[in-house]
Amino acid sequence: MPAKKKSAKVLRCPTCGGLVRAKDEDFPFCSDRCRKIDLGKWATGVYKISSPVLDPEVLEDLGGLTGGHSQGSNDE
Ligand SMILES: [Zn+2]
Repeated sequence: MPAKKKSAKVLRCPTCGGLVRAKDEDFPFCSDRCRKIDLGKWATGVYKISSPVLDPEVLEDLGGLTGGHSQGSNDE
């Protein structure tokens, strides 16, 4: 009697979106090339640039600009 038959785990390559099997040598990338491309993105700061809001200094700036005036600044 066979045990539970697991279907091969398949994910998508973060670089090219191609299908990758968990047993592949370069998992989670579909190939060594895609792995290197992904590492290159990190090295060149592409991912940092895509999320500048996470920079604490930027958050401070935004807080300073919007902190004083909330709604209801009319004198009555
Ligand atoms: Zn790929």
